[in-house]
Amino acid sequence: MKPSSQLLAQILEDVRPLMGRGKVADYIPALADVPNHKLGIAVCYNDGDLITAGDADEAFSIQSISKALSLTLAMQNYRAEEIWTRVGKEPSGQAFNSLIQLEMEQGIPRNPFINAGALVVSDMLHTRQSAPRQRMLEFVRQLADNPHLCYDKVVADSEMQHSDRNAAIAYLMRAFGNFDNEVVPVLTNYFHYCALEMSCVDLAKAFFYLANQGTPLSGKTRILTPTQSKQMNALLATCGLYDGAGEFAYRVGMPGKSGVGGGIIAIVPGEMSIAVWSPELDPSGNSLAGTAALELLSARIGRSIF
Ligand code: GLN
Repeated sequence: MKPSSQLLAQILEDVRPLMGRGKVADYIPALADVPNHKLGIAVCYNDGDLITAGDADEAFSIQSISKALSLTLAMQNYRAEEIWTRVGKEPSGQAFNSLIQLEMEQGIPRNPFINAGALVVSDMLHTRQSAPRQRMLEFVRQLADNPHLCYDKVVADSEMQHSDRNAAIAYLMRAFGNFDNEVVPVLTNYFHYCALEMSCVDLAKAFFYLANQGTPLSGKTRILTPTQSKQMNALLATCGLYDGAGEFAYRVGMPGKSGVGGGIIAIVPGEMSIAVWSPELDPSGNSLAGTAALELLSARIGRSIF
């Protein structure tokens, strides 16, 4: 069922009382300063309609949602076995920035959506692309049909100044032989991807290809094959929300990817892509009211992959 803008607005009102129960990411000042009451939702439907409510047009830091975009670029540039010998496909059950499993599992990250996995993917992009940051920017501008999309330099620089844990993850993987380039340039790229500024509208449009068997909204060049699109959705459903993936599958029942900026994208394959934004996070680092909004949407339109 196609949601109406009234339904989306009602859902936002229904989750608004949750404000104050979560915590805005505060590991860098640029994220800590985002007002906690922001709330937006956008749906891109398969007939081309865009349905929105709340702060759907306001850009925010997409953070780890970018990990799905960088994996898509890697899938375009590498054969499957080249990727999946360097990173796994299993949920980690650990925090997104944990180092524990990495030591025990010889520098092979559990999946591409925890930080370790996304850093390996960024390393791979660095090897095969001459200007990875520019390439990512062109890719998202095209996908979202928005030539104005940019990196937030303040966020990217601030991440770099607070990069000890991500640097430790990258150096540990390098020690195990699972990192080909110098750590600092790859970290710089990774933080730029995280610092992409996009609105719910941009995100819903950009991720429509995952609801459309790999073909973007523009209908032009295929981004992924239908099989790759299915594989990406499977990874998002099992690993996209870190150690909250099971809870998210139980409550929302859609492939999804979250970021500590408070955004979440979710996919109903064959039908629609959805983006929500609410900056307060639950203990796993996923948007608290955003998850609740998706849960209500899933129930009210009767859609889930399960
Ligand atoms: N930039 C953040 C980090 O690397 C992204 C984490 C996230 O959104 N979960 O820690």
